[in-house]
Amino acid sequence: MRLSAPRLDRITASPTLATRMLAQRLRAEGRDVLAVSSGEPDFDTPEYIKEAAIAAIRAGATKYTDVAGTRALRQAVAGKFRRDYGIDYTEDEVLVSSGSKQAIFNALLATMVEGDEAIIPSPCWVSYPAIVELAGGTAVIVPCEPAGGYKLAPAQLEAKITARTRWFILNNPCNPTGAAYDADELRELGAVLLRHPEVNILTDDIYDKLTYDGFPTATVVEAEPRLRPRTLTVNGCSKAYAMTGWRIGYAGGPRALISAMEKLQGHSTSNASSIGQAAALAALTGPEESVTAMRETFSRRRDMVVALLNDAQGLLCHKPLGAFYVFPDISACLGKATAGGAYLADDGAFVAALLAEEGVAVVPGSAFLAPGHFRLSFAAPQDMLKEACLRIQRFCGALS
Ligand code: GLU
Repeated sequence: MRLSAPRLDRITASPTLATRMLAQRLRAEGRDVLAVSSGEPDFDTPEYIKEAAIAAIRAGATKYTDVAGTRALRQAVAGKFRRDYGIDYTEDEVLVSSGSKQAIFNALLATMVEGDEAIIPSPCWVSYPAIVELAGGTAVIVPCEPAGGYKLAPAQLEAKITARTRWFILNNPCNPTGAAYDADELRELGAVLLRHPEVNILTDDIYDKLTYDGFPTATVVEAEPRLRPRTLTVNGCSKAYAMTGWRIGYAGGPRALISAMEKLQGHSTSNASSIGQAAALAALTGPEESVTAMRETFSRRRDMVVALLNDAQGLLCHKPLGAFYVFPDISACLGKATAGGAYLADDGAFVAALLAEEGVAVVPGSAFLAPGHFRLSFAAPQDMLKEACLRIQRFCGALS
């Protein structure tokens, strides 16, 4: 009897989702757990978006749509790309999927063959290497240093490109480090990529609305239009509009790639939820005040969390330019014992002891291919964040 195919042995279950579910289970059991682990805005979906979904249900928009999404939504996605980046995609160059994760999955599965490589700067979001491996490819991880703001330098990219490189995957701004690339930095990476016409570029811009201190958001095709024929621009509604549960992601790219992705999606999930699409249409065509308000709140929380964590003994916390995570370096804490008697051999032990002894749930850095760190999400209420940071200070202060 085979209940799991060998290809699944190449990956582990999503650690971000696992941590979220563990924290929820412990809370349901009555434990005092502060869940500051999840990449999910704590805000409710704005009212005008919910109303649009309710109206869609009432109007009977409860049937299949085109696999690639309703025309209205694809036009709205094209409008977003035009408005925010000055890039022109036709509706045939846009695909709507069940979360941006599915868009990435579609793209890699549709294009990679055994032996192909995908270059991924790290620390990186947990699912990029897993999706590459599931697609039969090999993830080529390029560690990026804190001294460089955890950003990939053009020479690092150049050094990793081989005849087997099929994709370069960029997350801008980055989960978990908050590193963000402006147009000049993207142009410099683009100059390398122009020399390698066989490499496709996947830019995951899901956090593009969430940059701080006026950091100028940019995307690859905007910065280097000559890369347009081989770039897939991925985004979604989850983070900017607090719509994680609606599962609406989207991508713009060359027609041939979008149609390959559509073919694949037509045999897996078909269209994304018709109701979710109606909500996404309202999000992408509606007022942006709620996004601005959420960004300002995230910005205040970021400043508080960075200050409090830098006051914790042994932690080194950089200030993220975007997204809603901090990713402190905890290497000075490793090799020590906690007040509860646990030995901190690595970041996994640190995170487990922090949860057991202080009831604070965060994600270990090794999940993002960066051991010696943890990720804390500041997409949580200010009071909870403050309490979590104070508990982390107490935990670190008691190490010996
Ligand atoms: N992207 C979010 C995170 O990193 C949501 C969970 C996931 O899809 O990994 O926490």
